[in-house]
Amino acid sequence: MKFEELGLSQPVLQALDMKGYDTPTPIQAQSIPAVLEGRDLMGIAQTGTGKTAAFMLPSIDRLREAENRTPFKSCRMLVLAPTRELAGQIAQSAKDYGAMAGLKVQSIVGGTSVGKDRNKLHHGTDILVATPGRLLDLIDQKAFKLDGVEILVLDEADQMLDLGFIHALKRISQLVPAERQTLFFSATMPKSIKDLSGQYCKNPVHVSV
Ligand code: AMP
Repeated sequence: MKFEELGLSQPVLQALDMKGYDTPTPIQAQSIPAVLEGRDLMGIAQTGTGKTAAFMLPSIDRLREAENRTPFKSCRMLVLAPTRELAGQIAQSAKDYGAMAGLKVQSIVGGTSVGKDRNKLHHGTDILVATPGRLLDLIDQKAFKLDGVEILVLDEADQMLDLGFIHALKRISQLVPAERQTLFFSATMPKSIKDLSGQYCKNPVHVSV
């Protein structure tokens, strides 16, 4: 199996080529075609399986296809992650793969200057990677809105629950547009995660590696 067979665009394939990747990992092979079709996804996968590219590559192509403008004080793709380390890694991947597509990437995490984040997001961004608490701080300050979100990703959802983000995630689910694509990833699948994914996803494709 090669990346060329999954339906990705030339700019994304070129970005993969520059990274030296030619063979998709199992989660990528299973997820990419479904995400390109616009389906919601519920993925059970650990870190190290290549799940970041599994959601980032097809999402970039979806954003390219839709050709919407970067929304003012909002974003087109929102990725929620539990920790600043993971958010930083995801933002770096988004930059690596999204640069050729001309997409603007920002990340906001707790423990840094909120003022700087407000300025950074004033003109909006295409892709935002955020930890849930900081995102809600900016929303409560009227510095950011979720009305532009076309694609929502929850990464390491079980970890987000363990860190006490359940109320934040419930609030965020009520603020994103109902018409959107949701990609939900967790390393484990306890009942709390099943319930949460049911709240976020519509008829998702299930992928497990
Ligand atoms: P992740 O599970 O997303 O944290 O990815 C784990 C590591 O695998 C990262 O360093 C990626 O850059 C790398 N990676 C992701 N997809 C591939 C691939 N198809 N071939 C080789 N390495 C990959």
